[in-house]
Amino acid sequence: MTDRLRPVSKDFGSKTAASSSRPQTASSVSGSVLAARSPIFRDMLAIPQSEDQPTIGGCPIVVLPDSAKDLEYFLRAIFDSSFFEGPPKPSAQPILAGVLRLSTKYEIGFLRQRALQHLATVSPLTVEEFDKISSTRTFNGWPAQHLALADALDMKWSMPYTMYTISCSLTVDQLMSAASDVHLSPSVLRNVKHTFSFLRGPPSSGCASLDRCRPRRAEILSLLLDKEGISPMNSFPPFFWTGLFIKEFCASCHSEMRTQYEESRRRVWAELPEMFGLPSWEKLRAARDADLVGRD
Ligand SMILES: [Zn+2]
Repeated sequence: MTDRLRPVSKDFGSKTAASSSRPQTASSVSGSVLAARSPIFRDMLAIPQSEDQPTIGGCPIVVLPDSAKDLEYFLRAIFDSSFFEGPPKPSAQPILAGVLRLSTKYEIGFLRQRALQHLATVSPLTVEEFDKISSTRTFNGWPAQHLALADALDMKWSMPYTMYTISCSLTVDQLMSAASDVHLSPSVLRNVKHTFSFLRGPPSSGCASLDRCRPRRAEILSLLLDKEGISPMNSFPPFFWTGLFIKEFCASCHSEMRTQYEESRRRVWAELPEMFGLPSWEKLRAARDADLVGRD
């Protein structure tokens, strides 16, 4: 008897499947490899097949209740080692999501961990990880889909950054006016105000150029308020301070403002989990570390 079988989605042959690119060509795979990788498949395939089980090309069809795309990505990840490699190799959100969902469901630990490693590249849990994200992330994606995936798999550690990003798509006016259609906690508003407070305050006590420093702060704040979408965590990246702002402000104001801004954004970060109703950073980091180590 052949070891080959054809796992197909429940959508196999349906209109939905016919419109997607590959499920109709679901290829045969080795049942013993699937069984060796996954205890769920091992148990499933141990059940004797009936005489009249449908086949394609002599291979029994195994219908699975998963989406065609998820199943395609999952099987390719198992049988093609170059299809889904771990970081720093790039990935794509639909592939990562499909592999994560099904490797969790079918208990294939090494694939799940690889998917989680990709997810961790877009889930900073410290300010230092936040500052490096553009060089560490291995895929781009839609925040709403990211949150849906993290929610479905109960991975709260992967939520703060995405929640923060979504909040940042609002304008400062929206944030500060607490518009009724924007459901933000008072602490979000307080923190946004606080992060830019260094622009609102008077020049430093040692200011050497009051005529320049005072109006320039007000101008920058005004520019910020006109901007659509703003991220208090990185509105003023290091190159601002080492470049433009050295020319814009006297040394005393520059030094004081930079310190104030850094303290403010760290305070924003510290309060993010509470803002979004999530466990503490400590608990989130412990949960991530446990997930990345794996369970098998
Ligand atoms: Zn000054």
